Amino acid sequence: MTEISKDTVASVHYTGTFPDSGEMFDTSREGDPLVFLVGHKGMIPGFEREIMGSTVGETRSFTLEPEDAYGHPTDEMVQEVPRAMFPEEMPLDLGMMLMSDAGPFRIVAITDEVVKCDFNNPMAGKTLHFEVEVMEVRAATEDELAHGHAHGPGGHHHHEGEQDKSENDCCGDTNCC
Ligand code: ZN
Repeated sequence: MTEISKDTVASVHYTGTFPDSGEMFDTSREGDPLVFLVGHKGMIPGFEREIMGSTVGETRSFTLEPEDAYGHPTDEMVQEVPRAMFPEEMPLDLGMMLMSDAGPFRIVAITDEVVKCDFNNPMAGKTLHFEVEVMEVRAATEDELAHGHAHGPGGHHHHEGEQDKSENDCCGDTNCC
């Protein structure tokens, strides 16, 4: 039986909770399992490490410290942006999540002149508990290894004869490569 190791494609159901409160922050249970190429930095480091060697039907529970998950928040990731950079008519509120070219950020302070934007991952600094059930494991194909992600159901979709595949040597998916 194939076990989860580098260069396999794993399909897992997972539920993530905050160990302090027991509050669930994410689960795949209401939809399709999560499918990913193992060992290509597609997942937070501790998640892969903890499920290495597991096989179909196996369930693993583990708790990850921030350094094995989304890291710790840093001051450098909090930036002051002139209020004038935002459209005047745009309502700005504390705690609001917005999207920018540099990624998502949260507004943590507002004055007439500046908006303090926190680009830290909202999960940074948090200890996370996961329960992971292995649904399927298979060897990755050469294409998957070349692209660095899983294809097929749950992964990136390729369509036969798709033009953009040959043009950019990839799926044509905006998340690709
Ligand atoms: Zn691809």
